[in-house]
Amino acid sequence: MTTIFTKIIEKQIPADILFEDERVLAFKDISPQAPIHFLVIPKKEIATTNDISAEDEAVVGYMHRIAAKVAKDFGVDQQGYRTVMNCNADGGQTVYHIHLHVLAGKPLGWPPYTDRLKVE
Ligand code: 5GP
Repeated sequence: MTTIFTKIIEKQIPADILFEDERVLAFKDISPQAPIHFLVIPKKEIATTNDISAEDEAVVGYMHRIAAKVAKDFGVDQQGYRTVMNCNADGGQTVYHIHLHVLAGKPLGWPPYTDRLKVE
């Protein structure tokens, strides 16, 4: 299924692009949740983590290498950052084209959700 991220890949809508090659695109998140928040996406349309096939393994690994490269470009590779890939409704996924969130620029809390599990 085509999403808004395909429109960004095809330059039909603008984005603040940080890195691009034939396989992936990295761009700033439109609604940043940390001082630095960007997304790394494959150019191939893959809807969710559940849809990553054996042939996609290389690009998914490559997405992490590009996350590290762009984090280094921002100068935050040594202080650290978080990568997150949300899957489906309970994971908080809203755009069904896989994307690695990269959050950085401050100490990030853990766990990353606000609702606490009730321990009976
Ligand atoms: P998800 O909730 O699916 O894990 O994350 C989707 C992310 O995409 C959100 O953080 C949201 O702010 C971002 N996003 C949604 N639409 C756009 C857009 O048009 N441009 C950019 N740059 N980011 C977007």
